Amino acid sequence: MDETWKTIERLCDWLDAESPVQGRTERLMRILKIGEEYGEVAGALRGLLGAHPGKGKTHTIDDLCDELGDVIVTSMVALVSVADDAREVFDTRLREIAHRSPG
Ligand SMILES: [Mg+2]
Repeated sequence: MDETWKTIERLCDWLDAESPVQGRTERLMRILKIGEEYGEVAGALRGLLGAHPGKGKTHTIDDLCDELGDVIVTSMVALVSVADDAREVFDTRLREIAHRSPG
């Protein structure tokens, strides 16, 4: 997981260098990006189920998984962008969620 967070932090550095906006606005954009990617998950699921009228089945399970991955990555980028210690926040939250689930 350490290598994953290093990659996310490198992506944040790249975004910091390349983004046309900075500071609070950039952090807000990174949070909004999660919603954009979630919309792509919804589109992929609809496409997988053949729910787009007149189009039939337009997506595969791999497309859906890719979009779910995008949600995870964009969420990690947003967390790194707003938290003092994203790794600790994530680990603590995961422990809390796991603790309240059965098993
Ligand atoms: Mg996507």
